[in-house]
Amino acid sequence: MPYPPSRRELIHKVLGIACFAVPATTKAIEAKKMTIQTVLGRIPAEEFGFALPHEHVLCDFIGADKTRRERWNAEEVVAAIKPNLLQLKERGVKGFVDCTPAYIGRDPRLLKKLAQETGLHILTNTGYYGGANDKFVPKHAYEETAERLAERWIEEWEHGIEDTGIKPGFIKIGVDEIPADSPALSEIDAKLVRAAAIASRKTNLSVTCHTGGGAAGYAAVRLFIAQKANPARFIVAHSDGHGREVNFKVAEAGAWVSCDGVGWRSSEEHLPIVLPMLEKHAERLLLSMDSGWYWAGEPKGGKIRNYNYLTEGLLPLLRKQGITEAQIHDVTVKNTAKAFAQ
Ligand SMILES: [Zn+2]
Repeated sequence: MPYPPSRRELIHKVLGIACFAVPATTKAIEAKKMTIQTVLGRIPAEEFGFALPHEHVLCDFIGADKTRRERWNAEEVVAAIKPNLLQLKERGVKGFVDCTPAYIGRDPRLLKKLAQETGLHILTNTGYYGGANDKFVPKHAYEETAERLAERWIEEWEHGIEDTGIKPGFIKIGVDEIPADSPALSEIDAKLVRAAAIASRKTNLSVTCHTGGGAAGYAAVRLFIAQKANPARFIVAHSDGHGREVNFKVAEAGAWVSCDGVGWRSSEEHLPIVLPMLEKHAERLLLSMDSGWYWAGEPKGGKIRNYNYLTEGLLPLLRKQGITEAQIHDVTVKNTAKAFAQ
């Protein structure tokens, strides 16, 4: 999510059929089906459908040392968010990736309830958020090694989050802005990227990385690759504001360019960001809204934004520009499944 939110820059086929070398005469060709880990369990990747790769149900911005589950009433959150999710369903959306990490209000049980009540495929995550001057990084992350942090995240992937049995479908981290002339992330942010690389190598989970600007985003991609992790498992969030040059470099490095700020600026302003990507690197593009959420601590959850800016705003405008249904399908269905399938 953008933080502070008001400043947001206004801030194949996924079936992934793997054919094993087998003697054709004796064995049938074996196909390995790719799957996606939702809060209700694994689903075949091709069932994910039209999916939103970066949204939020709930956020609690009070800080890592003060946030706790008692700060929100899950029933009230469900009542506030469910109608918005049902609107999404009416518009053909099937998959919803909840990008709220631990220490900012991650609540797997709440997501599970919403998944059960709406039928949407909802994903939650493991990992720590290093944006916002590291306000949401827990103390132990400063003291522990990247390897130990990765172990914690892998543990959640293997056994579920806390005592919920609910497993993360991806890793969420964040890195703060760095000066354009400085190639280095802060020590703690670099540690989070290294931990994500270790965990991704082990689990094949994708990593969604909040980025404070293009320089930080591209530095995170380079560090991830230097750690011998697969760039196709790395999603550069908030790429809308990074400029064409950085977006192309990220795509050419093999990572995902996530233009997830749809609705935070006008659809017209999004065209010069999204069209060049569709033209040159459509197979690396993700579209989402970074929208929602119930604000923990605010009466009735505060001002909750809906999730319709993509289907009501940008997509119709892209169609007017001559972008075909097949191209839209590739980005919203194929790419999202590919980005999160294991
Ligand atoms: Zn976000």
